[in-house]
Amino acid sequence: VKQQSTSAIGFFDKHMEAAVRHRLELSQALEHAIEQQQLRMVYQPQVNAERQLLSVEALLRWHHPRYGEISPNEFIPIAEASGSILRLGAWVLERCCEQSKLWSNNPKLETLGISINVSPAQFLDPDFVDHVRAILERTQVNPANIRFELTENLMAQNIDFIVQQMQELKQLGISISLDDFGTGYASLAYLTQLPLDELKIDRRFVKTLFKQGEGALLTEMIIGLGRSMNLTIIAEGVETNAQFERLRELGCEVFQGYLFGYPSDTLPDIN
Ligand code: C2E
Ligand code: CA
Ligand code: CA
Ligand code: CA
Repeated sequence: VKQQSTSAIGFFDKHMEAAVRHRLELSQALEHAIEQQQLRMVYQPQVNAERQLLSVEALLRWHHPRYGEISPNEFIPIAEASGSILRLGAWVLERCCEQSKLWSNNPKLETLGISINVSPAQFLDPDFVDHVRAILERTQVNPANIRFELTENLMAQNIDFIVQQMQELKQLGISISLDDFGTGYASLAYLTQLPLDELKIDRRFVKTLFKQGEGALLTEMIIGLGRSMNLTIIAEGVETNAQFERLRELGCEVFQGYLFGYPSDTLPDIN
């Protein structure tokens, strides 16, 4: 018996060791990803009820020389754990502001918004607002076109500091969206304290719209809550016309998902 359990542990040890080694390798490779030019941004359309392009969400992509495209779902948590998210986040912000400035030079794209994911570690950095201010000045971007997507699990931190950071960003003219709402830390109690502009309904709530059970009710309640607070409601992961229609009925105003476009290096044609 002892022999058996030892080898079972040995089996898991080996697999865990391999997983840890892989993470470590990715973590080290990420340190050089910027200067090796392995990172790029892609943009996914966000449309209104008439399917007109309002804004895009900027999503980071990493092309690893040996492993190819690695999902941000895999490498963002690694970057958060190692601390390199601060450098990555700064790079993302810089790229997005430069891109937004280029778009705004085109009269047809003058008001195109860009929604940028900001990690909790980045947002909680005491230098963050100063850093943002410097990038705005350097790139001469229109801050009215910039929106930060902050995730709900941020709310586990000091709420007074969060509110203060948000207010300072809003004073710079940037708007703020609460991402993945309903999926994480219960921020319900804080919701009314936060100077938010937008509430982003997570993909998993859109998915349950036509499923049996409580999922659809919960989605309706979340949208109702956001509307009662006078926030713009955006739904992500919209894949079908039925979802699009139902979300419109419920009072959703902005929509993002494969139904309208995939994340891409180029903007969809607009006229
Ligand atoms: P997220 O912020 O929830 O972004 C939405 C994700 O859903 C994206 O995955 C997008 O490609 C995907 N998506 C969009 N429409 C649909 C759809 O209709 N169906 C389905 N099934 N999926 C859809 P992606 O690009 O793989 O990003 C994953 C996550 O990585 C993001 O989730 C975000 O949390 C994080 N991330 C991506 N870029 C950045 C970044 O620049 N900075 C930070 N901090 N996080 C990022
Ligand atoms: Ca997001
Ligand atoms: Ca999400
Ligand atoms: Ca409003």
